[in-house]
Amino acid sequence: MTYVVIDNCIACKYTDCVEVCPVDCFYEGENMLVIHPDECIDCGVCEPECPADAIRPDTEPDMDDWVEFNRKYSEKWPVIITKKDPLPDAESRDGEAGKREKYFSEEPGEGG
Ligand code: SF4
Ligand code: SF4
Repeated sequence: MTYVVIDNCIACKYTDCVEVCPVDCFYEGENMLVIHPDECIDCGVCEPECPADAIRPDTEPDMDDWVEFNRKYSEKWPVIITKKDPLPDAESRDGEAGKREKYFSEEPGEGG
């Protein structure tokens, strides 16, 4: 089992999650984060920290695709372990549907 980040995170990047992860397994893209499924120890402490409800256990329905998505990008993007300011549209786009299709960027973030 692992936890994964889903598209509610896109355009938000509040990054409250990274500070609590004991194994530093969050990776930063240009406009979202992902969790490395092989590094996550399933402690669950990050899930309630996310203001966008973007962190889910892979035991929820239809999560297989998101596990592979998290794996793919965690191997391309830099690790992030410190909190930073959210993206400018974080609040206005919180909860919006179809963020993956509309806004997702494959580009890496800065990490840090
Ligand atoms: S707290 Fe939630 S929305 Fe913010 S970066 Fe982490 S997963 Fe994404
Ligand atoms: S469940 Fe625990 S180990 Fe996995 S990403 Fe969240 S805080 Fe890190």
